Amino acid sequence: MASFVSLRSEIFDREERKQQYQAHIRGLNAYDRHKKFLKDYASFYGKEDSRTVKLPVKTDRDTLREGYRFIRTEEDDMDPSWEQRLVKRYYDKLFKEYCIADMSQYKTGKIGLRWRAEKEVISGKGQFICGNKHCDEKDDLASYEVNFSYSEAGENKQALVKLVTCERCADKLHYKRRKEKEQSEKREREENKRKSLFPGIGQGVLMKQIMTVKGARREEKEKRLQFQLMIIMLMMMITLMSFLRGCFHDRLLPYLDG
Ligand SMILES: [Zn+2]
Repeated sequence: MASFVSLRSEIFDREERKQQYQAHIRGLNAYDRHKKFLKDYASFYGKEDSRTVKLPVKTDRDTLREGYRFIRTEEDDMDPSWEQRLVKRYYDKLFKEYCIADMSQYKTGKIGLRWRAEKEVISGKGQFICGNKHCDEKDDLASYEVNFSYSEAGENKQALVKLVTCERCADKLHYKRRKEKEQSEKREREENKRKSLFPGIGQGVLMKQIMTVKGARREEKEKRLQFQLMIIMLMMMITLMSFLRGCFHDRLLPYLDG
């Protein structure tokens, strides 16, 4: 008999769930579903009006602490209805699925990440609004998977989380990697240019070629010097010969005249 009662209650429960789903959830788009779930979440679990929650939070640690206090209350474990469990699961998933980024030092490749605070989860910041802390862009958003290192209960942990950004912030997110890629491509282009000047040769052969060119130039210079030296010697010899001829001519003249 007891099993019949429990079976009946289970069937009723299932039917109720189905009706509730069809009446309130099916047909909603992602953002409307998000709004509904979080409104329900706030009414089931919120102790105070979310507008009066003290935010923004100062540090990542404070954010974590506040977030945990918010999602892990004793009431959470007390026999909640399926609807409460559903919105709770949705909230928990969201809390650890998306993060908020500090991109103030993006040029050095440093992007700070933290979990979202309650207010941000509810407003959809980092999910339907750009996840850069200082940007509120809602259009042309794209989701990126990023590695998030964080400290929890004295332990260092890592998780792959989603970071949703607009196009402008996505540029900041990939700035350093893009710059590095551009530099390596530039180096590659220069290397290819050198190779096209000396086709079919590697760096070693290229060095040998350069050395050979240098050697040939030195040889040419030495030959030019030798040639100049020969000219000078020739001119000196001509001068000497004309001098000697002058001397002999002067001495022979009296004999010739006599
Ligand atoms: Zn943005």
